[in-house]
Amino acid sequence: MNQRRNSGRHFLQIPGPTNVPDRVLNAIQQPTIDHRGPGFRDLTADVLNGLGQVFQTRSKVVVFPSSGTGAWEAALVNTLSAGDRVLMYETGHFARLWYGIAERLGLDAQLLPGDWRHPVDPVAIGEALAKDVDHRIKAVCVVHNETSTGAMSDVAAVRAVIDETRHPALFMVDTISSLASIDFRHDEWGVDVTVGGSQKGLMLPPGLGLNAVSDKALAASLDANLPRAYWNWQDMLDANNNGFFPYTPATNLLYGLREALSMLLDEGLENVFERHRRLAEATRRAVVAWQLELLCLDSAARSHSLTAVQFPEGVDADAFRATVLERFNMSLGNGLGGLSGRVFRIGHLGDFNDLMLIGTLGGVEMGLAASGIAHQRGGVTAAMDYLSG
Ligand SMILES: *Cc1c(COP(=O)(O)O)cnc(C)c1O
Repeated sequence: MNQRRNSGRHFLQIPGPTNVPDRVLNAIQQPTIDHRGPGFRDLTADVLNGLGQVFQTRSKVVVFPSSGTGAWEAALVNTLSAGDRVLMYETGHFARLWYGIAERLGLDAQLLPGDWRHPVDPVAIGEALAKDVDHRIKAVCVVHNETSTGAMSDVAAVRAVIDETRHPALFMVDTISSLASIDFRHDEWGVDVTVGGSQKGLMLPPGLGLNAVSDKALAASLDANLPRAYWNWQDMLDANNNGFFPYTPATNLLYGLREALSMLLDEGLENVFERHRRLAEATRRAVVAWQLELLCLDSAARSHSLTAVQFPEGVDADAFRATVLERFNMSLGNGLGGLSGRVFRIGHLGDFNDLMLIGTLGGVEMGLAASGIAHQRGGVTAAMDYLSG
């Protein structure tokens, strides 16, 4: 056994799951209670209230014991009917996965093509909606923060083109890797269904899928005919109204969620967002100093929660990641889909601070040297200069 590998903490610098803070781990390890007993109501109320603040909504939030993928499915099956047209935008791997789910559910899903290096183009969405004069498109679905590429899209701008074309489609947004890291406003931006998950900015282990649901989406759910049982919002909302869940919730994850929400709200969402913005900027300065290539070409859209770096042709990103894991006990994100082997991703979201970032970037810089990958030294210094400035 390699001693170096087992001493100290593992650095989990993939863009989700993220490092779970001790306060949340401690909350999770409380004894499980009766989810139909009197003590449960307070827990339900606390988490639903806190989630509303984090989604920046007065609407209902639904919590499923599921991965984020389940929350994607729930958004679609509750609001749509077989054969409904859905307009999606290919920001990258996660947008494609959501599209794949829509197709498997029997929806007429249309994917506006993207090059995986840019955010959503609201103009392209506006054009597609303007052409749809008989309103066959029932929903517009976009990923706020594309975790495979590190591109953030302008959700308010997409809302604006939907309004400009006076199109009645529902607006659905995946915020799984942006919620509680990057400013997102469910109500103000007129989003009908927001999809979230526990294991990224919310600093929890995997296992909770979230939907924030507008009144318009709730109304649509009354007519929607896609089959739904486990994912049925109405069962959830009815039970939640009484302080309970329709089936056994992930009780201990809800303990963790209550703690994580209180940490986030104590810090203040504005401060949480600014912390992520600043750590992201420091990361990009390191990448530029290394003379490596940022995958996202739109400088204003580069993600605050992760940074994707593309190696030159012929340099194996997976071998580099394996070296970093073996030598420095740090996990970096891999290239997904067509980016496999070419890209690595640095997660800088969740329970994360300046020194954790410097450790992370130190691991990357040492990994580049240990792997013999051409780069300039000084990325960590560039990040420190920024953070200490
Ligand atoms: C992580 C992620 C998902 C998938 O969530 P799972 O919990 O793996 O199902 C979906 N969308 C985005 C943007 C993500 O970052």
